Amino acid sequence: MIHNTDIVIIGAGPAGLFSVFEAGMLKIKCHVVDTLEHIGGQCSALYPEKPIYDIPGHPKILANDLIEQLHEQAAPFAPVYHLNQRVDQIEKKDSGNFVVITSKNVRIGCKAIIIAAGCGAFGPNRPPLADIEEYEGKSIFYSIRSKDQFAGKNVVIAGGGDSAVDWVLSLAENAARVSVVHRRDKFRCAPENAEKIKKLAAENKIDLVVPYQLDGLKGHSGKLEAVLVKDFDGNIKEIKADYLLPFYGLAMELGPIANWGLNLHKHFIEVDVATMRTSVEGIYAIGDIITYKNKLKLILSGFAEAATACHDIYKIVYPDVPFHFEYSTSKGV
Ligand SMILES: Cc1cc2nc3c(=O)[nH]c(=O)nc-3n(C[C@H](O)[C@H](O)[C@H](O)COP(=O)(O)OP(=O)(O)OC[C@H]3O[C@@H](n4cnc5c(N)ncnc54)[C@H](O)[C@@H]3O)c2cc1C
Repeated sequence: MIHNTDIVIIGAGPAGLFSVFEAGMLKIKCHVVDTLEHIGGQCSALYPEKPIYDIPGHPKILANDLIEQLHEQAAPFAPVYHLNQRVDQIEKKDSGNFVVITSKNVRIGCKAIIIAAGCGAFGPNRPPLADIEEYEGKSIFYSIRSKDQFAGKNVVIAGGGDSAVDWVLSLAENAARVSVVHRRDKFRCAPENAEKIKKLAAENKIDLVVPYQLDGLKGHSGKLEAVLVKDFDGNIKEIKADYLLPFYGLAMELGPIANWGLNLHKHFIEVDVATMRTSVEGIYAIGDIITYKNKLKLILSGFAEAATACHDIYKIVYPDVPFHFEYSTSKGV
């Protein structure tokens, strides 16, 4: 799939979303790419229901509500979102333009890039099991779109936090058998859910495999047959399994950004604070991913950096049109 736009924004967290608005006010078009299935970055992935108290003009706003409002504020400028895919590669053309290539092989031609990648791409914490790649997306899933696919199947769920427990309770109803593998006999979840798990196990409706850790996979061509688990004395047992669902939380990694030839300081991108330019002409960076003296990792700093970057990018998108600064109150949206 090939697209063309003015700016590609890498990361749909608060800084990336506000860049769409700032760019839009300058008649600059954007495409936005994020590895997550939804927009919102850390706000949506890590603390959607928590109130934030330091967004100017909002004495208190839930993280999810802030993201919804940023989405609404950007909407008049018709950004195109490419979610559930990571930007893996950036190619710079002789013309100075770029082609941004995602993990789904979507290619987006653009004049400038804003990296608003937070702490890096979010991805699941994957258990260190041999040949796990062979099964991922076929018999092993880190998130669930529809629970119907597990009806009548043997499902092993690994983990002891809220996600693991929620899915145990949900799938216990329609899977043939649910086995829960956790390295402790206590679960880190709402107390009432921990009680429900114990009750299901006591009624022999699920198997509690505790304290055990995942140790290996059995099967072929991506089709799982059994999961091997090990206790702390090294005893191994085999659990019949059609599916394995590991819920070990989200990890953040700088990932491919480290290979794009940018000057980095301890995993953060160095920028010129007056423009948000990185060491590569045409590539800008804002938000939590950047470093400069006294940088504050706050949403409000990301907003200001978005405005600075977009104003500098105007000169790239409209090299022959002089820039006249106008307030939103006089210009409108
Ligand atoms: C529990 C908690 C509470 C917080 N409370 C506050 C608070 O009260 N006030 C405040 O101001 N801040 C708070 N913060 C910090 C705030 O959430 C961050 O400063 C903010 O989210 C940074 O925004 P961002 O847009 O720079 O990056 P992020 O929100 O991290 O979003 C970056 C996005 O980029 C994506 N991405 C990265 N690499 C790639 C790639 N290669 N391809 C595609 N996508 C990519 C990631 O998947 C992610 O979705 C809190 C943070 C946490 C964890």
